[in-house]
Amino acid sequence: MAGEETSASVELPIHGACHCGAVSFEMKVQPRAAVECNCTICRSLGTVWGHGEAGDISVSAAPGATLSYSRGDKELAFHTCRTCGSTTHWEAVRGDSKGRMAVNLRLAAPGTIEAIGHRHFDGAETWTFLD
Ligand SMILES: [Zn+2]
Repeated sequence: MAGEETSASVELPIHGACHCGAVSFEMKVQPRAAVECNCTICRSLGTVWGHGEAGDISVSAAPGATLSYSRGDKELAFHTCRTCGSTTHWEAVRGDSKGRMAVNLRLAAPGTIEAIGHRHFDGAETWTFLD
């Protein structure tokens, strides 16, 4: 219905995996939105994030299977599969956001982003949602 905040529910846990399957994740709680951000890093990675608490998200990967990238204040570590190049998740490793994580919902089943609700966040400037 028009004008109503309708977020369909998705089947939990939400599963996702990189293209080659070396890195996978499971999210036990449905995120409030599937967030596409226009900040420099998110724009480069082409990700759509599902945010949650680290305790609600588990990532399976062999030691060293991901490349970790941090920039600026180094509060967030972005993880990319070393084999296939898919960006799988980030985790807050220090600072106020420690304990927070996000997974790349582009790696979940087709339709997941739409079912959760695809939103656009202006991380580049106003730090507010654009939609
Ligand atoms: Zn991979």
